[in-house]
Amino acid sequence: MALIVARNRADLRKARGDGPVALVPTMGALHEGHRSLIRDARARAAQVVVSIFVNPLQFGPHEDFSRYPRTFEADLAVCEAEGADVVFAPSAEDMYAPDRQVSLHSGEMGRIVEGAARPGHFDGMLTVVLKLFNLVQPDLAVFGQKDAQQLAMIRRMVADLDLDIEIVGAPTVREPDGLALSSRNRYLSAADRQVALVLSRALRAGAAQAAAPKILGAARAVLDAAAPALDLDYLVLVDPSTFAEVGESYSGAAVLAVAARVGATRLIDNVVVSVGG
Ligand code: AMP
Repeated sequence: MALIVARNRADLRKARGDGPVALVPTMGALHEGHRSLIRDARARAAQVVVSIFVNPLQFGPHEDFSRYPRTFEADLAVCEAEGADVVFAPSAEDMYAPDRQVSLHSGEMGRIVEGAARPGHFDGMLTVVLKLFNLVQPDLAVFGQKDAQQLAMIRRMVADLDLDIEIVGAPTVREPDGLALSSRNRYLSAADRQVALVLSRALRAGAAQAAAPKILGAARAVLDAAAPALDLDYLVLVDPSTFAEVGESYSGAAVLAVAARVGATRLIDNVVVSVGG
């Protein structure tokens, strides 16, 4: 079946097929990480809808909304190659009425860690994801572990607002040298890219330790050695579902998450680590 490109909500309604629908929300500039989500969705549902929408609501005033990479034709080829059925690529005007009033509030969980660094980001993200859920009406939606706090917040939204949608978390796809794939990697110069490798190296060093203080210490040492080329924003060890920082005696699964600036590019990465035990 040929790929259907829905440029607005009316096109999307017409494209609705029979059987379970899986949604893969993206901002485009698709790479192998996105491909893995589409393949995961393909294996789970009769119809796969990929949304491509650079959501203005989730960017801060000094962030990269206007220069965010937009590669629509290449993205369509990726979606077609991975067997997606529908690409939903609405305009900002179609998504947001100029007089809109109501939006989502991500709560305290949206104000910590990545939310502290990007005020309003999770409110904007949840608002667009809920709108996409309402427009596409999927049975399930696939999100990457790469954005671990986003995934946790979406699970929270589904629980708190009683949404009947299965949320699937998919593992982070990395380059052979460890760098997590990201649409923002294309901003990196060759020299920046070498520095950016320190993020995944630090996470691996942390994950090789057992107790919380040692995990953080080992990761921090690797990051500190790369300063000032790498400008650390945060390094935290958090509960995977609440994103609250875990205490020194914690045991169980935790997320070791890092954000740093390399040149003008802000990168995030994380790994799930087994603490204690
Ligand atoms: P984005 O286009 O950056 O908003 O990402 C769209 C989806 O792709 C989100 O669910 C991301 O978590 C996911 N994603 C981004 N990078 C990766 C990656 N390297 N591996 C797996 N999923 C990813």
